[in-house]
Amino acid sequence: MAAKKKSGKRSTKRSAAKSAPLAEYQRKRDFTKTAEPAGKSVRSSSAKKLHFVIQKHAASHLHFDFRLELDGVMKSWAVPKGPSYDPSVRRLAMEVEDHPIEYNTFEGTIPKGQYGGGTVMLWDRGTYEPEAGGGEETLRSEYERGDLKFIMHGKRMQGGWVLVRMRREGERAQWLLIKHRDEFADTKHDVVESETTSVTTGRSMEEIASPKGRGRVWNSNRADANEPAPKKKPARKSVTTRKTSATASRKKPATPRRRRSTRSTS
Ligand code: MN
Repeated sequence: MAAKKKSGKRSTKRSAAKSAPLAEYQRKRDFTKTAEPAGKSVRSSSAKKLHFVIQKHAASHLHFDFRLELDGVMKSWAVPKGPSYDPSVRRLAMEVEDHPIEYNTFEGTIPKGQYGGGTVMLWDRGTYEPEAGGGEETLRSEYERGDLKFIMHGKRMQGGWVLVRMRREGERAQWLLIKHRDEFADTKHDVVESETTSVTTGRSMEEIASPKGRGRVWNSNRADANEPAPKKKPARKSVTTRKTSATASRKKPATPRRRRSTRSTS
């Protein structure tokens, strides 16, 4: 089911991993040490909606990982400054290796010393579509051409956006991420500044990074012991508290919420 989409019209010379789409992703990671998904499968895509995710990643340098689903994987770019709603602003987007679709639910901490070590927050997610219509076929050819125009339906990312390829540096292509001029464009809306919490859990980067915050969201691969025993958590309460915390930290993003973690881990 994996490799049937490979019949691109004209094979542009791309570097590695033609035959195994996630090979580079897997080569870079030690899945006995990181809780990131192993990416065993490339999902076969049908006519369903395509997803995107943006993860805020405090690695050696803070950046935003911008990922668009295409042909069963997440095409990925590291955007150091994150997106801007100002159409006159061009944000550098460095293409990185394709990620598995399961990565879309990953929020947590990659151990120090591992590839990309640091805290990962789910900053936005939703669906997207090519502006010109035509589904994945359009996106595939625009991607090959280096001129992707798409509409995002997220919580924080909305309207038309463009990714334009500038040049390649080694095997890495540099692109620019630009807001299209439409009703969502807004020169005064600094979305990176105003949205500082997880779109799914409401947690701040600090909360995700704190030992008590770890293991709450995604760690099924994880064999280590600091994972709280799931049974002890009364499901009802944790939902309530999470909601409260999400609301609270949206208003006051900088304040760490301690109360919740005491309850849920001990
Ligand atoms: Mn990253």
